[in-house]
Amino acid sequence: MRLRNIAGSREVIADSSFVVKDPETKKGLWKKEVFGNDNDIHIEIGMGKGRFLMDMAALHPDINYVGIEKYSSVLLRAIQKQQQLLLPNVYFIRMDAEDIAEVFAKDEVSRIYLNFSDPWPKDRHAKRRLPSRQFLERYDSFLIPDGHIEFKTDNRDLFNFALEEVEPAGWMLDAVTYDLHNDERMNAGNIMTEYEERFSATGNPIYKYIISRKGSK
Ligand code: SAM
Repeated sequence: MRLRNIAGSREVIADSSFVVKDPETKKGLWKKEVFGNDNDIHIEIGMGKGRFLMDMAALHPDINYVGIEKYSSVLLRAIQKQQQLLLPNVYFIRMDAEDIAEVFAKDEVSRIYLNFSDPWPKDRHAKRRLPSRQFLERYDSFLIPDGHIEFKTDNRDLFNFALEEVEPAGWMLDAVTYDLHNDERMNAGNIMTEYEERFSATGNPIYKYIISRKGSK
Protein backbone atom coordinates (compact mmCIF):
# COMPACT_ATOMS: atom_id res chain seq x y z
CA MET A 1 0.00 0.00 0.00
CA ARG A 2 1.45 3.34 -0.92
CA LEU A 3 -0.74 6.37 -0.57
CA ARG A 4 0.06 9.61 -2.33
CA ASN A 5 2.74 11.42 -0.40
CA ILE A 6 0.78 13.39 2.15
CA ALA A 7 2.25 16.77 3.03
CA GLY A 8 3.18 16.96 6.69
CA SER A 9 3.02 13.22 7.40
CA ARG A 10 6.69 13.12 8.42
CA GLU A 11 6.13 16.00 10.85
CA VAL A 12 3.06 14.30 12.37
CA ILE A 13 5.10 11.12 12.84
CA ALA A 14 8.00 13.02 14.40
CA ASP A 15 5.60 14.65 16.89
CA SER A 16 3.47 11.59 17.67
CA SER A 17 3.87 9.91 21.03
CA PHE A 18 2.39 6.74 19.49
CA VAL A 19 5.43 6.31 17.24
CA VAL A 20 8.62 4.98 18.80
CA LYS A 21 11.53 6.90 17.34
CA ASP A 22 15.01 5.33 17.19
CA PRO A 23 13.41 1.93 17.93
CA GLU A 24 16.79 0.17 18.10
CA THR A 25 17.40 2.00 21.40
CA LYS A 26 14.45 0.04 22.85
CA LYS A 27 15.90 -3.36 21.98
CA GLY A 28 15.36 -5.58 25.03
CA LEU A 29 13.43 -2.78 26.76
CA TRP A 30 10.06 -2.77 25.01
CA LYS A 31 8.02 -4.19 27.89
CA LYS A 32 9.69 -2.18 30.62
CA GLU A 33 10.29 1.16 28.92
CA VAL A 34 7.67 1.41 26.18
CA PHE A 35 4.64 -0.43 27.58
CA GLY A 36 5.49 -0.30 31.29
CA ASN A 37 4.24 -3.83 31.91
CA ASP A 38 5.32 -7.45 31.46
CA ASN A 39 2.67 -8.50 28.93
CA ASP A 40 3.50 -10.45 25.78
CA ILE A 41 4.34 -8.49 22.65
CA HIS A 42 2.73 -9.27 19.29
CA ILE A 43 3.85 -7.40 16.18
CA GLU A 44 2.41 -6.87 12.71
CA ILE A 45 4.95 -6.21 9.98
CA GLY A 46 3.53 -4.15 7.11
CA MET A 47 0.46 -3.11 9.08
CA GLY A 48 -0.80 -0.54 6.53
CA LYS A 49 -3.36 1.73 8.16
CA GLY A 50 -3.36 -0.45 11.27
CA ARG A 51 -6.96 -1.55 11.41
CA PHE A 52 -6.18 -5.21 12.19
CA LEU A 53 -3.61 -4.26 14.84
CA MET A 54 -5.94 -1.85 16.61
CA ASP A 55 -8.93 -4.21 16.45
CA MET A 56 -6.73 -6.89 18.02
CA ALA A 57 -5.45 -4.48 20.67
CA ALA A 58 -9.00 -3.50 21.65
CA LEU A 59 -9.95 -7.17 21.95
CA HIS A 60 -6.82 -8.16 23.88
CA PRO A 61 -5.89 -5.41 26.34
CA ASP A 62 -3.47 -7.79 28.07
CA ILE A 63 -1.28 -8.05 24.96
CA ASN A 64 1.15 -5.35 23.82
CA TYR A 65 0.99 -4.62 20.08
CA VAL A 66 3.64 -3.03 17.86
CA GLY A 67 2.76 -2.13 14.27
CA ILE A 68 5.54 -1.68 11.72
CA GLU A 69 5.02 0.25 8.51
CA LYS A 70 7.49 1.50 5.91
CA TYR A 71 5.61 4.49 4.49
CA SER A 72 4.89 7.71 6.37
CA SER A 73 1.75 8.45 4.35
CA VAL A 74 0.26 5.08 5.37
CA LEU A 75 1.41 5.25 8.99
CA LEU A 76 -0.23 8.66 9.25
CA ARG A 77 -3.64 6.97 8.87
CA ALA A 78 -2.87 4.59 11.72
CA ILE A 79 -1.78 7.49 13.95
CA GLN A 80 -5.00 9.37 13.20
CA LYS A 81 -7.04 6.32 14.21
CA GLN A 82 -5.03 5.82 17.39
CA GLN A 83 -5.51 9.52 18.24
CA GLN A 84 -9.21 8.71 18.52
CA LEU A 85 -8.94 5.27 20.12
CA LEU A 86 -6.05 6.02 22.52
CA LEU A 87 -5.35 2.32 23.01
CA PRO A 88 -2.72 2.02 25.77
CA ASN A 89 -1.34 -1.24 24.35
CA VAL A 90 -0.42 -0.01 20.83
CA TYR A 91 2.75 1.60 19.47
CA PHE A 92 4.02 2.07 15.93
CA ILE A 93 7.39 2.08 14.22
CA ARG A 94 8.10 3.64 10.84
CA MET A 95 10.84 1.55 9.31
CA ASP A 96 11.77 -0.95 6.64
CA ALA A 97 11.44 -4.37 8.25
CA GLU A 98 14.79 -5.37 6.75
CA ASP A 99 16.32 -3.95 9.93
CA ILE A 100 13.82 -5.55 12.32
CA ALA A 101 16.45 -7.71 14.04
CA GLU A 102 18.08 -4.49 15.30
CA VAL A 103 14.86 -3.51 17.10
CA PHE A 104 13.85 -6.55 19.14
CA ALA A 105 16.05 -8.70 21.40
CA LYS A 106 16.09 -12.48 21.77
CA ASP A 107 12.73 -13.78 23.08
CA GLU A 108 11.19 -10.30 23.15
CA VAL A 109 8.25 -11.02 20.81
CA SER A 110 5.65 -13.78 21.21
CA ARG A 111 3.83 -13.60 17.88
CA ILE A 112 4.33 -12.10 14.42
CA TYR A 113 1.52 -11.26 12.01
CA LEU A 114 2.18 -10.87 8.29
CA ASN A 115 -1.01 -9.75 6.55
CA PHE A 116 -1.24 -9.32 2.79
CA SER A 117 2.47 -8.70 2.44
CA ASP A 118 3.74 -7.15 -0.78
CA PRO A 119 4.33 -9.98 -3.30
CA TRP A 120 7.55 -8.74 -4.97
CA PRO A 121 6.80 -10.96 -8.01
CA LYS A 122 10.24 -10.80 -9.67
CA ASP A 123 12.53 -13.70 -8.71
CA ARG A 124 15.44 -11.37 -8.05
CA HIS A 125 13.33 -9.64 -5.37
CA ALA A 126 12.39 -12.86 -3.54
CA LYS A 127 14.47 -11.97 -0.49
CA ARG A 128 12.37 -8.83 0.02
CA ARG A 129 9.21 -10.92 0.57
CA LEU A 130 8.31 -10.83 4.25
CA PRO A 131 7.81 -14.65 4.52
CA SER A 132 11.15 -15.37 2.73
CA ARG A 133 13.84 -17.45 4.45
CA GLN A 134 15.93 -14.29 4.87
CA PHE A 135 13.13 -12.70 6.88
CA LEU A 136 12.41 -15.96 8.77
CA GLU A 137 16.03 -15.86 9.90
CA ARG A 138 15.53 -12.32 11.23
CA TYR A 139 12.29 -13.34 13.03
CA ASP A 140 14.14 -16.30 14.54
CA SER A 141 16.45 -13.90 16.38
CA PHE A 142 13.70 -12.35 18.53
CA LEU A 143 10.64 -14.65 18.62
CA ILE A 144 10.16 -16.73 21.79
CA PRO A 145 10.90 -20.47 21.30
CA ASP A 146 7.24 -21.51 21.05
CA GLY A 147 6.20 -18.31 19.24
CA HIS A 148 4.21 -18.37 16.00
CA ILE A 149 4.04 -16.50 12.75
CA GLU A 150 0.59 -16.09 11.24
CA PHE A 151 0.55 -15.19 7.54
CA LYS A 152 -2.53 -14.34 5.43
CA THR A 153 -2.66 -13.43 1.75
CA ASP A 154 -4.88 -13.63 -1.31
CA ASN A 155 -1.83 -14.10 -3.56
CA ARG A 156 -1.44 -17.77 -4.48
CA ASP A 157 2.08 -17.39 -5.90
CA LEU A 158 3.29 -15.63 -2.77
CA PHE A 159 1.58 -18.23 -0.58
CA ASN A 160 3.19 -21.13 -2.50
CA PHE A 161 6.55 -19.41 -2.18
CA ALA A 162 6.02 -18.88 1.57
CA LEU A 163 5.10 -22.55 2.06
CA GLU A 164 8.27 -23.65 0.26
CA GLU A 165 10.41 -21.45 2.51
CA VAL A 166 9.15 -22.93 5.79
CA GLU A 167 11.17 -26.18 6.07
CA PRO A 168 14.48 -25.03 4.56
CA ALA A 169 14.45 -22.12 6.99
CA GLY A 170 14.06 -24.51 9.95
CA TRP A 171 10.41 -23.82 10.71
CA MET A 172 7.40 -26.12 10.61
CA LEU A 173 3.86 -25.78 9.42
CA ASP A 174 1.35 -25.95 12.28
CA ALA A 175 -1.78 -25.15 10.27
CA VAL A 176 -2.69 -24.21 6.71
CA THR A 177 -5.84 -23.33 4.79
CA TYR A 178 -6.48 -22.41 1.17
CA ASP A 179 -9.85 -20.87 1.95
CA LEU A 180 -9.75 -19.21 5.37
CA HIS A 181 -13.27 -17.81 5.38
CA ASN A 182 -14.75 -21.26 4.67
CA ASP A 183 -12.50 -23.06 7.12
CA GLU A 184 -14.50 -23.16 10.33
CA ARG A 185 -11.59 -24.07 12.58
CA MET A 186 -9.02 -21.62 11.26
CA ASN A 187 -11.51 -18.82 10.75
CA ALA A 188 -12.74 -18.93 14.35
CA GLY A 189 -12.02 -15.51 15.86
CA ASN A 190 -10.50 -14.24 12.60
CA ILE A 191 -10.08 -10.47 12.52
CA MET A 192 -10.19 -9.09 8.99
CA THR A 193 -7.58 -6.68 7.73
CA GLU A 194 -8.36 -3.85 5.30
CA TYR A 195 -6.92 -5.78 2.36
CA GLU A 196 -8.66 -8.97 3.43
CA GLU A 197 -12.03 -7.28 3.35
CA ARG A 198 -11.32 -5.77 -0.06
CA PHE A 199 -10.01 -8.98 -1.65
CA SER A 200 -12.55 -11.35 -0.19
CA ALA A 201 -15.37 -9.06 -1.38
CA THR A 202 -14.24 -9.81 -4.94
CA GLY A 203 -14.62 -13.54 -4.26
CA ASN A 204 -10.89 -14.29 -3.87
CA PRO A 205 -10.09 -17.06 -1.35
CA ILE A 206 -7.78 -16.08 1.48
CA TYR A 207 -4.80 -18.34 2.26
CA LYS A 208 -3.33 -18.63 5.73
CA TYR A 209 -0.57 -20.50 7.48
CA ILE A 210 0.65 -20.67 11.06
CA ILE A 211 4.27 -21.70 11.56
CA SER A 212 6.63 -22.21 14.48
CA ARG A 213 10.23 -23.30 14.94
CA LYS A 214 11.13 -26.96 14.46
CA GLY A 215 11.68 -28.64 17.78
CA SER A 216 9.81 -26.00 19.75
CA LYS A 217 7.08 -28.43 20.84
N1 SAM B 1 -1.47 -5.48 6.54
C1 SAM B 1 -2.37 -4.53 5.92
C2 SAM B 1 -3.63 -5.20 5.49
O1 SAM B 1 -3.66 -6.44 5.41
O2 SAM B 1 -4.63 -4.50 5.24
C3 SAM B 1 -1.68 -3.81 4.75
C4 SAM B 1 -1.32 -4.67 3.58
S1 SAM B 1 -0.44 -3.78 2.30
C5 SAM B 1 -0.66 -4.75 0.90
C6 SAM B 1 1.26 -4.11 2.71
C7 SAM B 1 1.85 -3.07 3.64
O3 SAM B 1 3.13 -3.49 4.06
C8 SAM B 1 2.04 -1.71 2.98
O4 SAM B 1 1.48 -0.70 3.78
C9 SAM B 1 3.56 -1.58 2.85
O5 SAM B 1 4.01 -0.24 2.90
C10 SAM B 1 4.03 -2.40 4.02
N2 SAM B 1 5.37 -2.98 3.84
C11 SAM B 1 5.78 -3.70 2.78
N3 SAM B 1 7.06 -4.06 2.93
C12 SAM B 1 7.47 -3.56 4.12
C13 SAM B 1 8.69 -3.58 4.82
N4 SAM B 1 9.78 -4.18 4.33
N5 SAM B 1 8.75 -2.97 6.02
C14 SAM B 1 7.68 -2.33 6.54
N6 SAM B 1 6.48 -2.27 5.91
C15 SAM B 1 6.37 -2.86 4.71
